[in-house]
Amino acid sequence: MKYLTTIGLEVHVQLRTRSKMFCACGTGFGAPPNTQVCPVCLGYPGAMPVMNEEAIRLTVMTGLALGCAIPAFSKFDRKSYFYPDMPKNYQISQYDCPLCDGGAVEFESGGQGRRVRMVRIHLEEDVAKNMHFPSFSGVDFNRAGVPLMEIVTQPDMGSPEEAMDFLLALKQTLSYLGVSDCNLEEGNVRCDVNCSVRPDGQEELGTKTEIKNLNTFKGVFHALRHELDRQVDVLESGGRVTQETRRWDADQGVTYSMRSKEDAHDYRYFPEPDLMPVELDAATVGEWRAAIPELPGARRARLTAEYGIPGYAAGVIAADRAVADYFEAAARASKNAKAVSNWVMTEMLRLLGERGMTIGNARVTPGALARLVSLVDSGVVSSTAAKDVFAAMFESGGDPDALVREKGLAQVSDASEIEAIVDRAMEENPKSVADFMQGKSAAAKFLVGQVMRLSRGKANPKLVNEILERKLGAE
Ligand code: ZN
Ligand code: MN
Repeated sequence: MKYLTTIGLEVHVQLRTRSKMFCACGTGFGAPPNTQVCPVCLGYPGAMPVMNEEAIRLTVMTGLALGCAIPAFSKFDRKSYFYPDMPKNYQISQYDCPLCDGGAVEFESGGQGRRVRMVRIHLEEDVAKNMHFPSFSGVDFNRAGVPLMEIVTQPDMGSPEEAMDFLLALKQTLSYLGVSDCNLEEGNVRCDVNCSVRPDGQEELGTKTEIKNLNTFKGVFHALRHELDRQVDVLESGGRVTQETRRWDADQGVTYSMRSKEDAHDYRYFPEPDLMPVELDAATVGEWRAAIPELPGARRARLTAEYGIPGYAAGVIAADRAVADYFEAAARASKNAKAVSNWVMTEMLRLLGERGMTIGNARVTPGALARLVSLVDSGVVSSTAAKDVFAAMFESGGDPDALVREKGLAQVSDASEIEAIVDRAMEENPKSVADFMQGKSAAAKFLVGQVMRLSRGKANPKLVNEILERKLGAE
């Protein structure tokens, strides 16, 4: 039997704020345990929360960028639960009045345009981190109270691949907005996934399960694949899927049951009495809307239109705002944007990837890249030699003209010099010359290769061809 898949996501995104959601503690990653804490984020009785306005702004900006409605009234609620990562025994979150309603993410998946609608975006505080050691367990509160934006989608995704593409598109948009560092290694983006299967033709959705706390996109993908297969197996063997929360074990490649799923009433939500509601006026929201930068989709389209580079190249370059900024700076300084895009897409991204670097700390300035492109276009260096120049600039910076001189990479475009080399190649290879005379045109290619070899790759290939053709014609 064929089964249809339904997937929805809840994405928790750590916002880029200097201080926590309800206190002045810092949010830096990697500090020794429990060094960024105070009575508020440790959950001491009687400590009063104070709202971080920057977190509100970043959440609303995200909502505006994704086409959400921004209600004029929003409030915080207490979500009650009992676990050592939250000594207050409630998390301050939002229940029925989130900061953002609706909206959608548009992206491409499997070569097709997709649209995943959102239910809401709300703001909450992160919880502490339980750590387990051989002889004891500890709780690190550095992360407790860090602002988390939770993006809840409709169950609009039909495959693990689509869920991945959604997450990549969402991450691009969040990075462009600058609302989060989106650093997956530091746990900046964590997903809960809901999924279900149903026989093809059945209208009603199947029973869903939830997998909690996936902190890599690859984890989301593999957990979904395994969980969906598991559900199909359950149905095929005549069983029923139970609604529950499961955990993904990446090492074993399986999901296992954690607990039966709670309903909202189990959390006994009620309004947070220690915080004022958030009331946003149109002028403030308008100001924030005006500060939204150009987003990845729009930038892709503009790069193609403005610089005449292919859609594929524009997609690769626009995927990262800093890379796109770099490309545009170099392209503006150059007469050949297409060549600039090729350098950025191939050599630059390859070397950055190999070194685990970002374009922000690349030593090749946009101006130097533009100059290198013009050295190739004007025939001063061959494109092969230019790769050496680029590699040298990547290692230690520097000026392309100087590097060409120092490394003796200038292309030989002096006709008499090339003529001498062509003569030598013809003398050394009389058989190829004879073959050519008998109509074997491939022999000419071989001779060009010999000239290039004798010149150690520096002869201008266009001149070599012209001169060789003339000489062979005269034989
Ligand atoms: Zn604190
Ligand atoms: Mn949450």
